[in-house]
Amino acid sequence: MKPIKIVTPPLAANCYLLVDDRIALIDCGGDTKFILNALGKYINPKDLDYLILTHSHFDHAAAAGDLKELGCKILMHKDEYELLKSQGFTSIFFNIKFKPFKPDFELKGNEIIDLGNIVLKVIHTPGHSPGSICLYEEDKKWLFSGDTVFAYGAFGRVDLPGGNPKALIDSIEKLSKLDVENLYPGHEDVVEGNAKESILEALRIVKMIF
Ligand SMILES: [Zn+2]
Repeated sequence: MKPIKIVTPPLAANCYLLVDDRIALIDCGGDTKFILNALGKYINPKDLDYLILTHSHFDHAAAAGDLKELGCKILMHKDEYELLKSQGFTSIFFNIKFKPFKPDFELKGNEIIDLGNIVLKVIHTPGHSPGSICLYEEDKKWLFSGDTVFAYGAFGRVDLPGGNPKALIDSIEKLSKLDVENLYPGHEDVVEGNAKESILEALRIVKMIF
């Protein structure tokens, strides 16, 4: 089954529902009511096993504390959790408060998340934020790229707390070595087919700009 894309308020972050032997949601957006309603079209939200956060920005993650109360396990990079804690679970830039939560698994990179038919490898890709991650499905050649790279050569901003242009170049360089057919980014369009070209384009542009 292909990933189910759910576009969430308040800033149109893309979340992806993976329904397999185990059920995972990649990012949850910032509006609990909305995501629960959207999930309810496909699953009982209580059956969600994992919420994997590509990073901690509120438009991707602010509903996480509420979802955890339903019983799912939260996975996020340890550097991202440190950032979120140090900010007191507040998005300083947008002055939005999160319900505090503790991840069940603090990722470092290279972990394997086995959902059954879908197997995700965690790739640490700092730059947009210190603990940004991408998730790679090697057999299916899918890449869930959060706000690190987008379709058509676009890439994440680096002007938010913990952003780092040099790290972003290195991260996109790392991604450009993967064999990627389909790109599932954190905003805007999905790329189906030859998505590696989008990543190579992002690499060319990011190197020109920074
Ligand atoms: Zn972001």
